[in-house]
Amino acid sequence: MTRSTFKRKIYNSEIIDLEGLSIQIDYKKINRIYLKINARDASLKICAPLKTNSQIIHNFVNKKLLWIEQNRQKILHKNLSNFNFQAKIIRYLGKTYRIELKSDHTKPRVEIDFNQDEEVAGSIFLINFEKCDELNKNKILEKFLRDKLSEIAFQLLEKWQKIAQVKVEFLGIKKMHTRYGSCNPRHKRIWLSLSLIHYKIEFIEYVIVHEIAHFFVQNHGQKFYAKMDELMPNWRSLKNLKVD
Ligand SMILES: [Zn+2]
Repeated sequence: MTRSTFKRKIYNSEIIDLEGLSIQIDYKKINRIYLKINARDASLKICAPLKTNSQIIHNFVNKKLLWIEQNRQKILHKNLSNFNFQAKIIRYLGKTYRIELKSDHTKPRVEIDFNQDEEVAGSIFLINFEKCDELNKNKILEKFLRDKLSEIAFQLLEKWQKIAQVKVEFLGIKKMHTRYGSCNPRHKRIWLSLSLIHYKIEFIEYVIVHEIAHFFVQNHGQKFYAKMDELMPNWRSLKNLKVD
């Protein structure tokens, strides 16, 4: 595989769901199919010759499934630092917080203490976590982050449904390792990745608008970017605004 294959001009692009994997396919003037796993987020991208039919792509992915899974696991394992108790820090809405342990006589829970000092964002307290096993620690922190993301996402959704003049029928949050969001334009459903809670609100907003834009244009062709420009003229800068 040559590096340049992935830099060549894209003629058409689509996202397919295969064997539980979400894969972006870019069609180019090339002679064979190539697959790449993003070393940062383990997302998958295929470059295929123009007009490759979907059955050929299915077969190609199926043959490589084991290799894909092994390599994605390696990458995801390396990148778990967002959610690392040992590291004693956590990224929350683009800022880094200290993880501190506290205890009282009530049940295990999570609280945030925002710091007025600009240097450190503050602390996230894990309260009574010493009473929990590892699995429950993860569950409680995850629920806390999920609730916060849900609150933010529904507020943003309300704003963007009005602007885009669409009705979103369903918004869900789940752990997604390959994408920040996905959608079903026909049923007007949006899924967001739980990992978005680690990033700035501006970036979460960009992802929501990106998914809403797919209600109008399903692929990532020129019309899609025109829709993004229309809805959110500054989306290009927000896309890179993940952390402070
Ligand atoms: Zn997209």
